Amino acid sequence: MTAAIIDGKAIAAALRGKVAGEVARLKRDHGITPGLAVVLVGNDPASEVYVRSKSRAVIEAGMAPCDHKLPATASEHEVLALVAKLNADPAVSGILVQLPLPPQIDAQKVIASIDPMKDVDGFHPVNVGRLSIGLPALTPCTPTGCVMLAKSVQPSLGGLDAVVIGRSNIVGKPVAQLLLAENATVTIAHSKTRDLAALCRRADILVAAIGKPELVRGHWLKPGAIVVDVGINRVSGEGGKSKIVGDVAFDEAKALAGAITPVPGGVGPMTIACLMLNTVRAACALNGLKASL
Ligand code: NAD
Repeated sequence: MTAAIIDGKAIAAALRGKVAGEVARLKRDHGITPGLAVVLVGNDPASEVYVRSKSRAVIEAGMAPCDHKLPATASEHEVLALVAKLNADPAVSGILVQLPLPPQIDAQKVIASIDPMKDVDGFHPVNVGRLSIGLPALTPCTPTGCVMLAKSVQPSLGGLDAVVIGRSNIVGKPVAQLLLAENATVTIAHSKTRDLAALCRRADILVAAIGKPELVRGHWLKPGAIVVDVGINRVSGEGGKSKIVGDVAFDEAKALAGAITPVPGGVGPMTIACLMLNTVRAACALNGLKASL
């Protein structure tokens, strides 16, 4: 069997197109322009790249960008004061504080200060709690994208055995919650799990969010499994050039899986698309409107 390749780029582009349509509807019918405020503290190069691509996507969707840059020396008080201002600003529908934050700032305190209705990263304890008890919530972007990709090849995940490798608060745990909400039977594996290979062999859906290049081998997979690879690992490739690989040995896995996301071009593009989706959903909820997405 050769796996179907799940084209995250195309699925993300389609989602961004739908978001742009919803933004146009909100403007036309309600005079509302959703706005996303992105707060960047310091000048971490990777964060700067992410923030730039988020702002580009905001503009492309017809929404209003609202970027705030604070120096690496900014105090926790300054960041909290900025978040309070954005919470109170009716032009801001979503607030994202780019992580990581400099060490003098308590990231959990900052996340908890965001209005849960504007928490488009889905990291606020209120949204985490709402997701876990099955209430509507803003859900984290990468995990939401992972489930959308799985559903693009298997629309109903009910009853399937899902194994999530990784238990971080930003990927592993929320992916597991979202799969549970889809009625999958979910097992979470992590660095202390015994016999990971045997566990993987039981998975109809395998989500790898580890951060270890090609840790998951092809022969670990159940034939026909849906494999969602979240990992982004830079390794040295041919001629000393670096390249990005996932947490799954793609070429081996392709021979056994039913469907698999590539790296790059799988989960990665979904993160920003889901951020746009959350922003338009937040704009609707803040204005007492039902989102059509
Ligand atoms: P993390 O370091 O916070 O968590 C990694 C998890 O992997 C931990 O829970 C750990 O227990 C588990 N783990 C480590 N070694 C293991 C092993 N040998 N066996 C089983 N489990 C093991 O990482 P994260 O933030 O959850 O990110 C995971 C990966 O996903 C990284 O490569 C990251 O770059 C990538 N990522 C991609 C996107 C995206 O595509 N947009 C977004 C976020 C993270």
